[in-house]
Amino acid sequence: MEDAFSYDIAILGAGPAGSTAALALQHAGLRVALLDKATFPRDKVCGDAIPGLGIKVLRQLAPEFAAEFDQLDCHLHTRRTRFIWEDSQELSFQWVLPAYTCKRIDFDDALLSLVSRHTQTDIRLNTPVSRIVSTEKGVSIHTQQGTVQAKILIGCDGSRSLAARALRSEKIDRVHHGGAVRAYVTGISDMHSDQTEIFVQKRFLPGYFWCFPLPNGGANIGFGMQSEAIANRKVNLREALKDFIAHSPVLRDRFKNAHWVGGIQGYGLPFGSQQVQVSGKRILLAGDAACLVDPFSGDGIGNAMLSGRMAAERAVQALEVDTYDDAFLKGYDQQLWNKLGHELQLKTRVQRFITAFPALLPWGMRFAKIPPVKRWLHRTF
Ligand SMILES: Cc1cc2nc3c(=O)[nH]c(=O)nc-3n(C[C@H](O)[C@H](O)[C@H](O)COP(=O)(O)OP(=O)(O)OC[C@H]3O[C@@H](n4cnc5c(N)ncnc54)[C@H](O)[C@@H]3O)c2cc1C
Repeated sequence: MEDAFSYDIAILGAGPAGSTAALALQHAGLRVALLDKATFPRDKVCGDAIPGLGIKVLRQLAPEFAAEFDQLDCHLHTRRTRFIWEDSQELSFQWVLPAYTCKRIDFDDALLSLVSRHTQTDIRLNTPVSRIVSTEKGVSIHTQQGTVQAKILIGCDGSRSLAARALRSEKIDRVHHGGAVRAYVTGISDMHSDQTEIFVQKRFLPGYFWCFPLPNGGANIGFGMQSEAIANRKVNLREALKDFIAHSPVLRDRFKNAHWVGGIQGYGLPFGSQQVQVSGKRILLAGDAACLVDPFSGDGIGNAMLSGRMAAERAVQALEVDTYDDAFLKGYDQQLWNKLGHELQLKTRVQRFITAFPALLPWGMRFAKIPPVKRWLHRTF
């Protein structure tokens, strides 16, 4: 058993949100523990598209962090995304911020390596947390190896978050949740290393298919959909992924010599289409635990990293004034929603509009090619 208040801050989960929170505490002079049930490198089911926002957060923390990541050879620079409707109509977007594709097994390990080399964080891997008890005196985090005590906990433990359940008991709301599957494939023809591709077909709406390039001729392909639609239509996502390719003459041809590496894996996406409670009981939530996935694109890494940093900043403020009550921590809810809420709401409306009126999508794509509209979309999406 650990001594009381062994740590000032405990971070649960060493994914993008948790590692970023630890990096943000680099100069805080605090006793910080980072706990994860996995040993790293560990995989996370994902599309492996690292949004520009994530790299921007890294650069803001320290330019050398972003420079170090840029030097690695496990990623590709992506500069544009191509949307293809029914194999016939297409729209291309240039990204404003530099973005990458990188297998999560490599990306998350690179982030954690920054934490271990640049911070004093006590990294405890292979440490599953089974229970969290929050009292007026602190937070007790129960693991098989003993109980870790902290003044405050940053919960970055993903979409099935134990920390979130310690804060609010909620069942998954399928309207604000998504499901997706992904597979690794080699040998797809006509891939461009700087371009991600999104395919949409009317019969598979509101789902979409992605094909993202990876180093060494590989690709991450996948299919995702809102959970309510999955349940209502009894969609089997693994079958839908294969059917999507089979029903697209263009993809069928491009996948002629494709080789599937490993199986098809699935996981949930907690969408940021509504505001949820992210603080209280000496706990601050970040990343998927705080339900921040973009409901339009399925991107969650950028918001995870941003919220990890913001939660770390709020935790430092709480420690400075030695105040951990819900009213003080609530400022984090407001700051986070002020920062991300507008964009998440806008994307939610776009996603719902497309789902309700799929026939208008080809017209929308034409409209999006008008230069001022295109400029606005580049800035917003
Ligand atoms: C199929 C799919 C495709 C996606 N594609 C993209 C994409 O291309 N781009 C993008 O930006 N986003 C994508 N996302 C979303 C993205 O994966 C998540 O938003 C992102 O991983 C959130 O990071 P996080 O740090 O909050 O959580 P996670 O990455 O899930 O990390 C949580 C960590 O907590 C640990 N943990 C959990 N429970 C415990 C416990 N009890 N004890 C100890 N440790 C624990 C886990 O081991 C894990 O390391 C996709 C999601 C899915 C499902």
